[in-house]
Amino acid sequence: MAEQKQGKPRISVMVPCYNEEESLPLFRAEICRVMELMPQYAFEVILVDDGSRDGTLGLMRQAASEDERFRYVSFTRNFGKEAAMYAALQVSRGDYVVYMDADLQDPPALLPQMMEKLEQDETLDSVGTRRSSRKGEPPIRSFFANLFYRMINRISDVRLIPAARDYRLMTRRMADSVLSLCEYNRFSKGIFEWVGYRTEWISYENIERSAGKTKFSFWKLFKYSLECIVAFSTAPLAIASVMGVLFCFASFVGILVIIIRALLGVSSAFGWPSMMCVILFVGGMLELSIGILGEYLSKAYLETKRRPIYLARETEEDLRKKREKEGD
Ligand code: UDP
Ligand code: MG
Repeated sequence: MAEQKQGKPRISVMVPCYNEEESLPLFRAEICRVMELMPQYAFEVILVDDGSRDGTLGLMRQAASEDERFRYVSFTRNFGKEAAMYAALQVSRGDYVVYMDADLQDPPALLPQMMEKLEQDETLDSVGTRRSSRKGEPPIRSFFANLFYRMINRISDVRLIPAARDYRLMTRRMADSVLSLCEYNRFSKGIFEWVGYRTEWISYENIERSAGKTKFSFWKLFKYSLECIVAFSTAPLAIASVMGVLFCFASFVGILVIIIRALLGVSSAFGWPSMMCVILFVGGMLELSIGILGEYLSKAYLETKRRPIYLARETEEDLRKKREKEGD
């Protein structure tokens, strides 16, 4: 701590990793190269093993024992990228913190430029990155991603930048604010916007994964987007009320029509099929409303349980203690 006060400002590089044994060595080489380019800063690289089932943890242990700057947290199981991001922030000690993916899709080489931007402008607390195109991504994924961003920006108070990545540099001030939101159902892109502060953006061309496969299936992304909607908008809850009003109005018109037809002496018996359609339609809408309510209720239920966001089994401190014991 004392060293940090007098010495160089420290940057915490935070990397969530899930089954990244193929990318991690490439990432390590690249981040080391970039750290050499920035001698005016001290660094710590926090690798979070999100319950990997391959050799990822072994590589982290190796990195931590060979290089003092590397630290790691290993989870008891796969808790998801959001949990890994939270854990990294919680253990970070830097004056600046930056998130990066392990697959080099967030190029570490941009860091000097991001840092320069942040230091130049006093009023800035964050430098984010966004992709100038989604080149190389499956078109169906881009289509749904765009649809999602258009919808969430319409129904929520937070403004999400469509092409924004989680690759983001923040001051300690902002990092602490992000940490203070300790909700269980996390959606970082929304949280970054929610906490406020001024952010500058840097664009870069989409880069394909350096090695290994994507860890996000379509289904996982779909669930993730629902999480965001429930976390940052209550608009879906209003659907039930709006539909209620519409149906009341429709039934009122229907009653009027029946009365007028009765007064005119016209029979009001319409067919059975049209009746069934109305019943099914109203029934379906009711089920939908209950379903939406259920989504919010289930999230609220999980929040009230106050379960920890992640559980760690091992950190680099455990490793160092073990090594010291063996050395004695
Ligand atoms: N990741 C994670 N836990 C998960 C899924 C992914 O920590 O459950 C990490 C992964 O190791 C990578 C980052 O999150 O560093 C982004 O994942 P990926 O590159 O697979 O996603 P994509 O770039 O395809 O959206
Ligand atoms: Mg990736």
